[in-house]
Amino acid sequence: MKPAWRGAFLVYVLVAALAAIAPTVISGRQVPANAPTSASSRRLLQYALPPDKLQKSYALYRLDFTLYFATTLWSLVVLLLMLRSRFGGRLRDWAERVSRYRILQAVIVMSLFVLILELTQLPFAAYAHSVGLQYGLSVQTWVSWFGDWGKGLLLEVLFASIAGWILYAVLRRSPQRWWFYFWLAMVPILVLVMFIAPIWIEPLFNRFEPLTGHHADLVAQIERVVHRGGMNIPEQRMFEMKASEKTNELNAYVTGFGRTKRVVVWDTTMEHMTIPQTLFVFGHEMGHYVLGHIPKELTLILIQLLVLMYVGCRLANWAVTRYGSRWGIRSLSDRASLPLLVLILSVLAFLDTPIVNGISRHYEHQADQYGLEVIHGLVPDAHLAAAQAFQILGERSLDYPYVGKLAEFWSWSHPTIRDRMIFVQSYDPWGEGWQPEFVKNAP
Ligand SMILES: [Zn+2]
Repeated sequence: MKPAWRGAFLVYVLVAALAAIAPTVISGRQVPANAPTSASSRRLLQYALPPDKLQKSYALYRLDFTLYFATTLWSLVVLLLMLRSRFGGRLRDWAERVSRYRILQAVIVMSLFVLILELTQLPFAAYAHSVGLQYGLSVQTWVSWFGDWGKGLLLEVLFASIAGWILYAVLRRSPQRWWFYFWLAMVPILVLVMFIAPIWIEPLFNRFEPLTGHHADLVAQIERVVHRGGMNIPEQRMFEMKASEKTNELNAYVTGFGRTKRVVVWDTTMEHMTIPQTLFVFGHEMGHYVLGHIPKELTLILIQLLVLMYVGCRLANWAVTRYGSRWGIRSLSDRASLPLLVLILSVLAFLDTPIVNGISRHYEHQADQYGLEVIHGLVPDAHLAAAQAFQILGERSLDYPYVGKLAEFWSWSHPTIRDRMIFVQSYDPWGEGWQPEFVKNAP
């Protein structure tokens, strides 16, 4: 595979993807708002936007998709330029001149490498933020935004330095099986990062308060939901995130591992939703929590990473044999190979995107089902509350209603709002006389 061809391939994917979403958009507008056949006799609410928001959401939909492919392609181009200009070799020479300690060399090489990659992506990131401001999704000031960018960069440098040091240490010791040993070393590191994220990383970017602080009434209702699920989630594991300082969007999430595991609800969600709607959102997150989605998804991602490392190793060996002298790379264990390894893994990770998102959509769908099951009977009309929650979520985020199949397949980590809204209204084991799958002790 020649670099030129690789570039052409990505341009092809980009063009094909954009072409594929356009017709769906047009036909999407003509889709009649008819209900799919379901046991429910009432007319289903369809996710829809008023004309002005629809127009904005369509513009955003196209922009996001274009930006996603453009930034991916650009990062690969930057890595290729690094290879052609033998940048990795220069970084190595410079680091070796500054220090004879390998760990310091790793820090120097990784820091500069990450810094340059992030600087080349900065214009795109800043443009994306300006779009968020322009469309009223974000309310974050530029000072705060740059602050977050800087903190993110420092974390990345820290993580990359550790990973880079381990990578070249195993490459030198085991030229054949380094891909496996490196993966093995990454497993506890990734688990550790997930463990400390809620207590050390997330508070760097947002403020968190116990949910009981301002929302005692909601917590009382949440406790009924938790009890219905036959669970025990202590109050100390429920947090409110002060998202309104930065965004107009609504959200909630589950984070952490073992003792740091917790449910977080954005303050914007509670501000714009009724208690039954918020309870559905909470129920969805509780579904992730109860069904163990974090460890399950992490396991699946680690398995994919192992495959990527193996394939990456084979490709890297081939590339060094063939182009090593041209790119100034003596061997794979030479730090000059860094742009090559990152390039190969980036391409493989890009191609793996639909698999990662497909897995995620599966678990998100399960969480929707759990959320509905766990609030059923506790709120007056669970199906309606869930459908309304999705309408509000989608509308606040300007989610385009007519997402193309390819766009969904490739980059949607959640099922589309349209499908989720239909699902929560048509899933009705209670009406159809069979047991719900996850929450059995229904009234
Ligand atoms: Zn979810």
